[in-house]
This record gives sequence, structure tokens and C-alpha cells, in this order.
Amino acid sequence: MSDNLGSETRPLRVAIIGSGPSGFYAAEGLLRSGLRVKVDMFEKLPPPFGLVRYGVAPDHPKIKKVTRVYEKTGKKEGFEYFGNVNIGEDLSVEDLKQHYDAQIYACGAQTDRQLNIPGIDLPGSYTATEFVAWYNGHPEYIDREFDLNQEIAFIIGQGNVAMDVARILAKTVDELKNTDIAQYALEALAKSKVREIHLVGRRGPAQTAFTPPEIKEFGELAACDPVVKPEDLVLNETSRQELEDPKFREKKRNYEILKGYSEGGTHEKPKKFLVHFFRSPIELVGDGKLEKVIFCKNVLVGEPGRQKAKFTDERVEIKGGLFFRSVGYRGVPIEGVPFHDAWGIFPNTDGRIEGAPGFYAVGWIKRGPSGVIGTNKADSIATVKGLLADLPDLIPCPKPDTGAVSEILKTKGVAVVTFADWGKIDAAEIANGKKVGKPREKFVTVKEMLRVIEK
Ligand SMILES: Cc1cc2nc3c(=O)[nH]c(=O)nc-3n(C[C@H](O)[C@H](O)[C@H](O)COP(=O)(O)OP(=O)(O)OC[C@H]3O[C@@H](n4cnc5c(N)ncnc54)[C@H](O)[C@@H]3O)c2cc1C
Repeated sequence: MSDNLGSETRPLRVAIIGSGPSGFYAAEGLLRSGLRVKVDMFEKLPPPFGLVRYGVAPDHPKIKKVTRVYEKTGKKEGFEYFGNVNIGEDLSVEDLKQHYDAQIYACGAQTDRQLNIPGIDLPGSYTATEFVAWYNGHPEYIDREFDLNQEIAFIIGQGNVAMDVARILAKTVDELKNTDIAQYALEALAKSKVREIHLVGRRGPAQTAFTPPEIKEFGELAACDPVVKPEDLVLNETSRQELEDPKFREKKRNYEILKGYSEGGTHEKPKKFLVHFFRSPIELVGDGKLEKVIFCKNVLVGEPGRQKAKFTDERVEIKGGLFFRSVGYRGVPIEGVPFHDAWGIFPNTDGRIEGAPGFYAVGWIKRGPSGVIGTNKADSIATVKGLLADLPDLIPCPKPDTGAVSEILKTKGVAVVTFADWGKIDAAEIANGKKVGKPREKFVTVKEMLRVIEK
């Protein structure tokens, strides 16, 4: 029994692994619980904020302002940030057990789902994950190269990530230069020869997963026209029913926007954004590098709201040398934490990780890669509620001491980045950005970041 956990004499000690939105919402929930809580947040990279920094598109800066809320949490009493600490490598789950009464995993979905088709590994075929991380200056992706000498690019998937990739390829340098895009990416994109961007979805125009502002933006770009063929917008009876359901209001709005694109436009701009439906790539073909993609045409089958794409015998080939797959993210295992391989998450019931008392999950590692930043708030609070309800059953850790954790990291030679250190990195990035008209110029290597702190 541990009925004194959370008291003045024995604060509840929680380790949060990951500093994205779900981690910060969990921290805030714990710090507002009314109990005495010590929250230590571990993040493998020096900077906090997860996909808000390394996923959200650079040309959508307003969305990133949510970090101001997290900064307030980061400065609260009882909160400590351990940046540049990889759980599973620098500290083990067993180490954490020694020093924390509970562990909340907020480590997101760090990798992409596979698309197992012939030719998928040909040069010229990439994941959206790596392209997004590259243009956002993620230290683990700065050395990636993408063949932007190609004129025709394919993006497989119809969610907002696919739209981000398409838009970054479609925009001019002038449209991107005042964003926090990594400088090397801006330079590479300035030389890009991509002229046709094909966004390909396996289902139809009534099943799009992107949100209306993202598709609308393609009608407002400086050098790119959206192109939609009217025959791609033909709906079956079930899809018509779906669009009348108020639950699918956003999809209906998407459909109307797509219809607008199909009805005209002069198509005089140098780049084209072509949206295709009812197609799945089945083979990537090329001699040493990608030269063309073979698509299978699909039909939809199933109940309203649950229609699935079914392959037909019809094939379509399109020539092109650049291919991005954006077919979903998945989590990666951490030694000592149960992992559901098929779902790519830490298996849990309402945030309680199965078979691991005292272990909890929030965000994308809890429910899979769905939802916007705000979705994580209610989700994290629900997990924190469960944790607090479990308090009487939690086994107090044997060594409730953050100093001892710092000592282990010091012995291992890990350069821990505190929240105050992050403040210095943040200020230096903003100052560097100011010189070139950007909101910030990100440091893209851990070395550069650590140098700022050492000054
Ligand atoms: C490309 C892209 C664009 C998006 N754009 C938008 C948008 O415009 N608007 C919007 O509302 N939502 C957007 N989203 C969704 C939003 O980013 C997610 O809902 C949200 O980031 C999920 O939060 P999370 O905390 O679960 O994971 P993440 O944000 O991924 O955070 C996980 C953190 O855990 C850290 N970590 C992982 N493993 C370890 C470890 N072993 N040890 C220590 N730390 C670890 C990671 O480095 C990372 O910082 C976008 C998502 C993507 C992929």
C-alpha cells in the first residue's frame, strides 16, 4: 500500500517519456492534481515538443504557437526536463523503476507503416516520415537525400501528412523562405525540378482524411494549380449517403472543394497538383532507380462509413521518379515495455499498459497515429485520471531521488539538457532566424545545440 504517495513528505514521482503534446498535457494534468507530484520528463532529443517542432509543416506557424502552453508547464514547480536522454539507451526502464512510482509513455509513433509492394526499395522511393523530418531539421534525418531532379512525384495517402508533403513540393521558395524550414532543405527545394505532384488515394473523394483548409490551400498557391478529373469524383450510392451524414461534414466540404477544382481553372501555373482516387500502387518499376509506378484501380465495397477499397483487374501506369508513401505512422518498442507489433502501440486499457503495473501510455503510442494536437489533451488527462485512481495500488519506488538519476546520467557521460538550457537554444535560434527573416533558424545537429548551452 502506498497511501502517502502524493503527500508533502512523499511526493508522487512520475517519469514521462517523450516531450510531445501528449507528454506535456500529462505533465500539466499531474501538476494540477492537487497532490504533491514530481514530474521528470525524458526526451531523446535536446529540444522539447516532439512533432510540433519536427512534424507540423514549417509554413503553418500558427499551429506551433501551442508550445507557449507547454512552456508554461515546463517552468512549473515540480517539473524537470531531461533533454538529450534516450530511454532504452541512456536509461533503462529498470533504472526508471528504481526512482519513479509510475512511468507515462508519451513517445509517439516514431516510424512509418510499411508498403510491401515490389520495387518499394528502389532509389527514388521514400517515406513521408523521412521527408517531413528532413525539411523540419530533425537531427536524425539531416543527411537524407531526395531526388528532386525528377519532374513527376507521387504521394500515396490522403491524410494531412500527405498534403504537407505535396504542399512543400508545390510551394515556391518565396512561399517558404520566411518559415522555420531547415536552410539546407530550402536550398534543395529551390533547385527542385518537380512539376507534377500526384496525390493518390485508394478510396474515393468521399473518404478523404485531410481537412478542408489543407485542400483549399492548393487553390491559393503562387505557382501550382490543383487538377481533379470529374470522372474521379463520381460517387456510388453508399458514398452519397456518407456525405449526407453530419458526422462527415468535413469530408463533404472536401468534396465540394474538389468539385470546384474539377470544374475549371486555366491551369496556367508551372506546377500541377493532381488528385487521384480509387488507385493503389502495386509495383514500382525501374532499372536501378524508379521510372514508373503501376497502379491498380479500385472499387469501394461495404457499409456506409466502412467502405473498403477492393482491387479490380484494371491497371494504370504513370511515369515518374519520385515516390513518397504516407500510409501511417507506428510506434517503436522500448525494451522492458510491452509492445503490440501489429498495431504499433503499447497495448493498453484506457492508458494502463497491459501486464505492466505502474506503466501508462498517452498520445500516439497509446491510441495510434490519429488526431490533431488538441486530441491529445483529453486523451492524456484520461490516462492521468486512471493513474491517480490507481494510487493506492502503486508500489512506491525504492529510491525516490532525482539526484540519483542525474548521477547515473553523469556517470554515463550524457549531456543532459534542462528546460533552462532549452531556453538558451530557443533564444539563439530565434536570434539567428531574425537575421534572415525567419521565425527561427533551427540548429540541426545535437552538437550545435550543446555548444550554445556550453557558452
Ligand atoms: C507530419 C505531421 C504533421 C502534423 N501536423 C499537424 C498539424 O498541422 N496540426 C495538428 O493539430 N496536428 C498535426 N499533427 C499531429 C500531431 O503532431 C500529433 O497529434 C502529436 O504530435 C502527437 O503527440 P505525441 O506526444 O503522442 O507524439 P510526438 O509529438 O511524436 O512526441 C513524442 C516524443 O517522444 C520522444 N521520444 C520517442 N522515443 C523516446 C525515447 N525512447 N526516449 C525519450 N524520448 C523519446 C520523441 O523524440 C518525441 O519528441 C501532425 C503530425 C505529423 C506526423
